[in-house]
Amino acid sequence: MIPYGRQDIDDADVSAVVDVLRSDFLTTGPTIARFEDAMAAHAGVAHAIAVNSATSALHIACLALGLGPGDSLWTVPNTFVASANCARYCGASVDFVDINPVTWNIDVDALAHKLAEAEAAGALPRIVVPVHFAGQSCDMAAIGALAERYGFRVIEDASHAVGGSYAGRPVGCCAWSDITVFSFHPVKIMTTAEGGMALTADNDLAEAMRRMRSHGITRDPAAMQFSSTEPWYYEQLELGYNYRMTDLQAALGLSQMGRLPHFIERRNLLAERYEAAFVDLPVQRPQVAAGIRSSWHLYTLRIRTPFDRDLLFRQLRRDGIGVNVHYIPVHLQPYYRDLGFRPGQYPEAEAHGREALTLPLFAKMTDDEFDAVVAALRRVLI
Ligand SMILES: *Cc1c(COP(=O)(O)O)cnc(C)c1O
Repeated sequence: MIPYGRQDIDDADVSAVVDVLRSDFLTTGPTIARFEDAMAAHAGVAHAIAVNSATSALHIACLALGLGPGDSLWTVPNTFVASANCARYCGASVDFVDINPVTWNIDVDALAHKLAEAEAAGALPRIVVPVHFAGQSCDMAAIGALAERYGFRVIEDASHAVGGSYAGRPVGCCAWSDITVFSFHPVKIMTTAEGGMALTADNDLAEAMRRMRSHGITRDPAAMQFSSTEPWYYEQLELGYNYRMTDLQAALGLSQMGRLPHFIERRNLLAERYEAAFVDLPVQRPQVAAGIRSSWHLYTLRIRTPFDRDLLFRQLRRDGIGVNVHYIPVHLQPYYRDLGFRPGQYPEAEAHGREALTLPLFAKMTDDEFDAVVAALRRVLI
């Protein structure tokens, strides 16, 4: 089976991890700071906070922005459940905004419309989470302008988009958002096995997230409530978590970062080749808006009548092609239906959920694997 995504680990990655394994610090050591500094420099932002998953990063981002009971967070249904769950961890409610039929990202017009209604009803969200689907950045300038007008905060779920860019700036620069979150799960662009990162330009948000990743504890005398000159003294200021990344993971991430430009290059090349190979097929191909460099985490097509996505899915899996579906709309999950969401509320995301088919795409994909995917798709569609 050719998987839809697969990590690319080389000898340098392996020895970087082994070096840490033989060192004094397996966790909370110097490699964490090196990885954070490298990612902050890459994104052109002041702070990067490494954690054990993007899910944890979303959680501490919401906490740092003060999300709590009585607040609401808006995201899209066309995402992984974690983009919405972070609000529930904080006791806040979730609502959704439908997606754009061309980019499959948040529909900025629908967002503007919903905000105007919410303002009239006195029910504006505290946080909006745009998700950069498949590696293509959302229209952050437009979302940033709405944030200024309506006073909500923005967390970019860039789990798909490390290494991409928008308006000439790297994703993660936080020029139009408060916080950006990356995932380093093995199917993503680059990996630390499990792992994630939160980036921000704001000193206070960075400090709050650093505290929340480690039990709410500070060792900074300036932040303490009581003063002590004793070197062993620390204070827990709030209820935090253990969301720390290990130095083993940071070493892997740092080593992988060296090849991030290559990963993005390679994914863009394969996406261009898919585009050329499918130009005559009766499918909706992904489109990247002007001024955006996608990091192509996913190559997702939409399959419409007379073809049946589910039938195609089964045929392709039978042919050894590890196709996948991104995404089952989050509001249709039983957990969210129990909160009152229903089919029909977000028609574009629901159509996407019925039609989307993700083909294998990863940096190490061979020409033979690529040709096998193209041939198999052409066979079932012609
Ligand atoms: C993968 C993913 C996450 C969660 O990432 P983890 O690192 O596995 O916690 C969150 N949001 C989106 C959109 C994702 O694709």
